[in-house]
Amino acid sequence: TSERRFESNPTVCPFCGVGCSVEYAGRGSATGVEGPVNGRGEICPKGAAAFDVVDHGDRLTEPLVEHGGTFVTAPWSEALDRVASGIGEVVEEHGADAVQFFASSNCTNEENYVLQKLARVLGTNNVDNCARLCHASTVAAMSERFGAGAMTNTLDDLGEADCIFVNGANPAEQHPVAFRSYILPAVRDGATLVHVDPRENDTTEAADVHLPLRPGTDIQLLNAVAAVLVEEDLVDEGFLAERTTGFDRLREHLAGVDVAASAEAAGVDPETVREAARAYGEADRAAVITGMGTSQHRCGTDNVHALLNLALLTGNVGRPGTGVNPLRGQNNVQGASDVGGLPGVLPGYEPVTDPDARERVADEWGVEPPAEPGLTEVEATHRFGDEVRAAVVFGENPAVTEPNATAVASAFDDLDFCVVIDLFETRTAEHADVVLPGSAWAEKSGTVTNTDRRVMRMRPNADLPGSARRDFEILTELGRRLTDRPEEFAYDGPADAFDELTRVAPIYEGMSYAGIGDGYQRWPFDAEAGTGTDVLHAETFATGERTAPLAVVDAVPPADDLDAGELTLTTGRVLQHFNSGALSRRSDRLMAMRGEDVLQIHPADAAERGIEDGDRVTVSNERGTVEAAADVTPAVREGVAFCTFHYAEPLANALTGDALDPAAKIPEFKHSAVAVEPA
Ligand code: SF4
Repeated sequence: TSERRFESNPTVCPFCGVGCSVEYAGRGSATGVEGPVNGRGEICPKGAAAFDVVDHGDRLTEPLVEHGGTFVTAPWSEALDRVASGIGEVVEEHGADAVQFFASSNCTNEENYVLQKLARVLGTNNVDNCARLCHASTVAAMSERFGAGAMTNTLDDLGEADCIFVNGANPAEQHPVAFRSYILPAVRDGATLVHVDPRENDTTEAADVHLPLRPGTDIQLLNAVAAVLVEEDLVDEGFLAERTTGFDRLREHLAGVDVAASAEAAGVDPETVREAARAYGEADRAAVITGMGTSQHRCGTDNVHALLNLALLTGNVGRPGTGVNPLRGQNNVQGASDVGGLPGVLPGYEPVTDPDARERVADEWGVEPPAEPGLTEVEATHRFGDEVRAAVVFGENPAVTEPNATAVASAFDDLDFCVVIDLFETRTAEHADVVLPGSAWAEKSGTVTNTDRRVMRMRPNADLPGSARRDFEILTELGRRLTDRPEEFAYDGPADAFDELTRVAPIYEGMSYAGIGDGYQRWPFDAEAGTGTDVLHAETFATGERTAPLAVVDAVPPADDLDAGELTLTTGRVLQHFNSGALSRRSDRLMAMRGEDVLQIHPADAAERGIEDGDRVTVSNERGTVEAAADVTPAVREGVAFCTFHYAEPLANALTGDALDPAAKIPEFKHSAVAVEPA
């Protein structure tokens, strides 16, 4: 690949939702450049290694077409013909709802906009992105209560917080630049950092208060915190009267919460719960940061409702340094959702069930999208081979990232047709009929929307390897071939698609590709003023109401019962790797930092099983068995084992369950019963 041309253009790191600006620095490396988020050009180890995937020898350089059980390389014309006939036959025989589209939280707004438009012009709302697997429950709860599911505040204004309450997130490792540049300075300035997490990790090291809760007990813990706020008169009476409804009902409910018993159920010390509640309730400005430890439960939506209560009880909404702030894990998980890569909403979160919203889209597209919400990712894989007969997988790797992944991988074989657009022959691609070689983050133009609602530009730093094509070109070509409205996919380029997006998605109205320039535009954007809105819900909530309801939330037990001798497996991420690992495990420098996954297990649990540090262990349940080396450490609480989901071996998601949250359809990644034994 030495003939490839590289150049340096500021673009956005692909490896988390912070959105650091980076560019090519020569010799296969990235360097940070001063950008809207990383004002001094700071980046983390993943950002520094981001070019390793761009010029990797495993890159797909030609389309692959399945013939007689093996892939052969094929010209684009043949591969695209095969996609058109494969999808076309399924639509003809079973209708457009027999096709599922997987959008990509790691690709641009324009690419995702075109993909969801393709699905809807074809006649289905079956389009989803992996926001379903990370913050769907956060968005469900926050949309219901506040009218918007995104960060209420900005990374910058965390600096004004007197208390930062981190629930189920590990920003020191997962959002390192946000942690070092925004959270740590606030802590050094005197803000109290509360960390709710079953493990001690790099975030805990900076925390003043650690609540190592038992996985699956967020509601017990958060209700206990809320009960202390009420009991010790730490609520904001004025805010409660003016900006909330339902306080009497919640107060009555919390009067029945025994703080000591709830703390005990959550496996934490009641006095530490009180300490955390006081730190949050006594602060002038207190911000909540939430992550997948909160959201990835079958009661994820209720967990977030319990968290939102804390902010409303104490008046910590609508001011700088406050709010509820979900941190996003990919560079465009916010944007993929904003632009309509979800089965229940059109671009800008307009419900598909709203006739006015459908009409507005129809004015632009010339065809009205279906009125029925489509299938979520996990629901769809459960119906592969049944009512779902084909899949278009764009830049996702569900055979590794979905729960109960072994079953998902084999379900892909039940499809009549599957096309994957990716950089590598991923685990999912192994089950496809056609694999189309797409473009890496550093080879494309377009925009992405970071975790605090900033829309920023991506610019190419490299040309394409072999005959790989830009994703935007592949998707518009599919739009022209698969639908009967080819003119709807005849864009001049990403800027043209972005213009259309600003006309279709109200929250992007008034933005412009040129206006973003080297900086950013934040949604919701005020077209007249030419500025974005930093702090949401200041005067009214995004629901249009002055008040938001408080919620009565009852604990929900996890789906997996723990049999005698079993541990709770909880999964997560580490500093050096990214999601399914298809990208980061191809980086020699990241693999040199962390090459193998390990199973963290508490010394008491290890001793009980005759396991010593470094021993090989099997981890098993009814869904699967995997093997890993044991990391015997008190950093993980007793009764809990931890591993990442970055590896195909051991495949953690072979063990995770697919019980779904009823509102958000997010699976319960964070609590799986497992037996752990010496291998
Ligand atoms: Fe990339 Fe996130 Fe690291 Fe910034 S903090 S360099 S966006 S992985």
